[in-house]
Amino acid sequence: MREAGRILDETRRLLESHLKPGVSTLQLDRLAEEHILSLGATPSFKGYHGFPGSICTSINEVVVHGIPSLKEVLKEGDIITLDFGVNYKGYHADSATTYPIGEVSPDISKLLEVTEKALYMGLEMAKPGNYVSDISHAIESYVKPFGYGIVEEFTGHGIGRELHEEPYVPNFGKPKQGPVLKPGMTFCVEPMVNLGTKRVKILSDNWTTVTTDRKPSAHFEHMIVITETGYDILTISKKE
Ligand code: MG
Ligand code: MG
Repeated sequence: MREAGRILDETRRLLESHLKPGVSTLQLDRLAEEHILSLGATPSFKGYHGFPGSICTSINEVVVHGIPSLKEVLKEGDIITLDFGVNYKGYHADSATTYPIGEVSPDISKLLEVTEKALYMGLEMAKPGNYVSDISHAIESYVKPFGYGIVEEFTGHGIGRELHEEPYVPNFGKPKQGPVLKPGMTFCVEPMVNLGTKRVKILSDNWTTVTTDRKPSAHFEHMIVITETGYDILTISKKE
């Protein structure tokens, strides 16, 4: 899983170097797929419940599951979430990041900052003896004062031989619920935070999920392993 995470992180850095106005989301998808395959791994999302892409490309009001398309081209001021998984020797890694394209408005910039920080506030609770929902509660407690909408329909999740496993890790809730964390557990923590309403809806392609008020949404995700003393992020490669 650490190797899958390393391949994912390397692919993410390749995609980052191509994030600029004029690039289509299908170009990003092709780049990711070719790179993942060249490293002896496969894109976990391709064909998952029939998903057509190798990566999810979610622009602006798209919360999750945006489908890469030649017709969808990045422009200055957009934000885009790249969410994708890598399967290496039967084990998955999964991670997501939202990026600004060029200059974005201050309120959007703040949304990205708070959502990324929310991920790390949640991860601070990831240690043996704590409960899964301690992570959820920490995320909600941090985000709430900003008045943003926390998406409830999609959550973090266990991961391993399957892309999505128990336990599910919501981004809200009371502390001290759900399983107790133990060393060796692997899961993804992934707050999805909207500038406006928390409400989302799925478009007629049955994938693309947007905010109902069409305001922008941010999403940050890492896959972690619980260690003896805390957690280790598997989707950031260690410097050699
Ligand atoms: Mg995930
Ligand atoms: Mg993901």
